[in-house]
Amino acid sequence: LAPDAATLTDWELRYGAHNYAPLPLVACRGEGAFLFDTAGRRYIDMMAAYSAVSFGHSHPRLVAALTAQAQRLAVTSRAFSNDRLPVLLKRLTELTGFDLALPANTGLEAVETALKVARKWAHAVKGVPDEQAEIIACAGNFHGRSIAIVGLSTEDQYRAGFGPFPGGLLTIPYGDAAALEAAITPNTAAFLVEPIQGEGGIVVPPPGYLATCAAICRRHNVLLIADEVQTGLGRTGRLLASQHEGVQPDGLCLGKALGGGLLPVSAFLARREVLGVLKPGDHGSTFGGNPLAATVALEALELLLDEDLPARSARLGAWLLERLRGIASPLIKEVRGRGLFVGVEVQGVSARAVVDGLLAAGVVTKDTHGTVIRLAPPLTIDEATLAAAADALERVLAGLER
Ligand code: PMP
Repeated sequence: LAPDAATLTDWELRYGAHNYAPLPLVACRGEGAFLFDTAGRRYIDMMAAYSAVSFGHSHPRLVAALTAQAQRLAVTSRAFSNDRLPVLLKRLTELTGFDLALPANTGLEAVETALKVARKWAHAVKGVPDEQAEIIACAGNFHGRSIAIVGLSTEDQYRAGFGPFPGGLLTIPYGDAAALEAAITPNTAAFLVEPIQGEGGIVVPPPGYLATCAAICRRHNVLLIADEVQTGLGRTGRLLASQHEGVQPDGLCLGKALGGGLLPVSAFLARREVLGVLKPGDHGSTFGGNPLAATVALEALELLLDEDLPARSARLGAWLLERLRGIASPLIKEVRGRGLFVGVEVQGVSARAVVDGLLAAGVVTKDTHGTVIRLAPPLTIDEATLAAAADALERVLAGLER
């Protein structure tokens, strides 16, 4: 007999590190845009594992690809090649317009790879003196949780107690291109930026920001690295969020949705001149580029294109923004986002109270920064389900007004 939800919750607290404050939901099944708890109750999943489940839970086509490949060959390491990874590398670079890709597992690894490559590029190609390369990132960023990446964070909750951090890491205000130009020195290797900040609260920069940053980077021979771990692969209504501004960055981090919601798969992509600085032995991981991950990622990319999910995200996202902006609640301060990547900033109530109310109403969302409720459902969600989630939000807010 499977342990009940209360027992499982107790075990998690008793035997697990307390590095999360989980919502009171013990999921045991997922299907499309729905999650089911151990009591069989159904929830609309409006957070989709922080945008990793863009195709819905256990998409049959992805599960079939995963299962078939798992029975054939799953993990090899990169000590020798396999018959799946090269196909993924070719497809990924074709789709994104980069020359080379380095496969990894989590988003954090893709970003860490980008930082290492940018530093090596600055030293080897740009002529920055050894150990002097600088990286610029933005206030409010989220790029992962390694020591180096947390060293770029401006959030106490991610940094406090984890120092000392590596040197050469700078932050500037997000959305302010003049601040970028002012911060660049001859030692600057790269500017790392999210086209829309996700964990920071679905923060959409002013129009033209990314394009202006790209021009500044080009002028100063600084790499523009777009962290599209969350915004990439259709989430914001284009294949890549950078494309909204016609920007082809010098480097691109992908993750989350690349694993089809089944596996951790990430990649760092760049031009030959940039990723070409890596020599055998410089960088890698045991699982990065394994045939199972490559197979699922390939199938995920084909599914994304076959079902034109970026366009679907644009269409449903525009509808959702309009629907939510039409809610006349004094508790709503702002509704913002792009595609199915939407944040509702509240006032006079904590975002967590709204998230708790929504969970009780059968809708899974996540609060971020105390004041923002993020809405990022699977891109495959149907109109009626999306509308039901929006209705629930309106009802929960009305209930909290009193
Ligand atoms: N970059 C961005 C923009 C992210 O949103 C995240 C995760 N929220 C990461 C990197 C880190 O990804 P992972 O959790 O897979 O390491």
